[in-house]
Amino acid sequence: MHTSALPDTEHLAERARRALAACGVERLREPVGAAGTARTPVTGGILFPVEFDTAASAGRAVTAAHAAFPAWRDTPAPVRGALVRRLGELLREHKADLAELVTVEAGKIRSEALGEVQEMIDVCEFAVGLSRQLYGRTMPSERPGHRLMETWHPLGVVGVITAFNFPVAVWSWNTCIALVCGDTVVWKPSELTPLTALACHALLMRAARETGAPEDVHRVVLGDRAVGEALVDDARVALLSATGSTAMGRAVAPRVAARMGRYLLELGGNNAAVVAPSADLDLVVRGSVFAAAGTAGQRCTSLRRLIVHEDVVEEVAEKITAAYRQLQDRVGDPSAEETLVGPLIGERGYTAMRDALERAQADGGRVLVGGERRLEEAAKDAYYVEPAVVRMPGQTEVVREETFAPILYVLTYRTLEEAVELHNGVPQGLSSAVFTRDQQEAERFLSSAGSDCGIVNVNIGTSGAEIGGAFGGEKDTGGGRESGSDSWKAYMRRATNTVNFGGELPLAQGVRFL
Ligand code: NAD
Repeated sequence: MHTSALPDTEHLAERARRALAACGVERLREPVGAAGTARTPVTGGILFPVEFDTAASAGRAVTAAHAAFPAWRDTPAPVRGALVRRLGELLREHKADLAELVTVEAGKIRSEALGEVQEMIDVCEFAVGLSRQLYGRTMPSERPGHRLMETWHPLGVVGVITAFNFPVAVWSWNTCIALVCGDTVVWKPSELTPLTALACHALLMRAARETGAPEDVHRVVLGDRAVGEALVDDARVALLSATGSTAMGRAVAPRVAARMGRYLLELGGNNAAVVAPSADLDLVVRGSVFAAAGTAGQRCTSLRRLIVHEDVVEEVAEKITAAYRQLQDRVGDPSAEETLVGPLIGERGYTAMRDALERAQADGGRVLVGGERRLEEAAKDAYYVEPAVVRMPGQTEVVREETFAPILYVLTYRTLEEAVELHNGVPQGLSSAVFTRDQQEAERFLSSAGSDCGIVNVNIGTSGAEIGGAFGGEKDTGGGRESGSDSWKAYMRRATNTVNFGGELPLAQGVRFL
């Protein structure tokens, strides 16, 4: 078992410093005003101090991005695409450096950290293609000699607020699309992941210099909620795209709405998979274990509820428990080759997990496997946990909440109607899946009377979405869509144009006047 060893914080700081320098962040600003820190969940230690922004300096960043907007807006979209193409090349070149920072700062295992950077590269490619495809429609006019069409224009400054658990990918979903759409961007990353943000910003600035884009096309501001609020309340931020907890979305939405701004929210999930009696159970186990325990259960799309038909629930519970037993020895240092489950981001996640397990047991739940803290003796400020599976007698209050930690609740159903009711009976609506070989069942789950989520899968887990599709969810998840498909429309404004190329001036709807 390798789990006894963790690197020390100084070693992690050195690794972070090297990766930052490789990405072009030569020197971290010494904190003079608002002192912040960069931490690592690998040991729970402080890597180094980092200067954070204030509301005033965040305002200055918006001023700069706002001033850069007209020139960027007027740059042809395919030329804007050249900036994102260069960024994609630099990300490819620095994939290992960025992944290193994601591992040190967010605690992701190596392959997931590399996967997150790959996702950014994929988004760049998508956005470059998009830069030649910001299509408007033409519609037949009801009037002779007239043409009716719509055109899409850049919005202005886009404020991007991101969560700790996808410290770079979510930035790229927003920023690459916003940039080809002609917007400028001010990014406030999670206060828990300032280093990855500085590295991404440095690479984008290099791409801007090399392609002749205005420097202030992108600004990064570091800090916590107060710095985020400066973007939320700034009327020059035309679109506020915020990713994080539902509590954050509830605070942000009314403030942006009060100034008639636009917002795009990507909030918490409480994702479930329905396992029908006809399901391929090996597929269920493989799909569920990665979705529930991967990223230590800290994905918005993490599988949190497995709703299993009563005929197969014993077998599924047994197989999942056996698979989880193999995971327990692979909790540890996220940089180690054999590790599958890295640390939780911090104490808050651990406390939430412990409390949820206690409440679930008080509700009659039975912990089938996992739930214990690990490696406390190696690093008392780091929070490693064994992913847990809990058999529940029903969907109690704790099951209806998103606990951002690796707990998988197993529930039982008899009819598909009952399964869908349980499935939809939570406040969140992000990702969902059905495992079945019955086509009718699959189609019913995909239909309007089935899952109420923004992502609905068949025979595949709830996590690990591809960037080509629109990403997001309903209800408490916030309703926003980012990344693929036509999500770009959220970053532009639509103008409807009527052009009269005839000599007459007929009025619409047959109205006569003078
Ligand atoms: P969080 O809500 O604590 O913080 C997210 C970001 O919002 C941070 O940058 C934070 O500083 C900022 N923030 C918090 N309150 C704010 C306020 N009132 N005004 C302005 N900014 C504010 O979330 P977290 O712990 O970093 O991330 C985990 C949560 O994010 C989970 O709920 C997860 O499901 C969700 N998430 C959702 C998606 C998605 O696409 N739907 C993706 C990733 C994470």
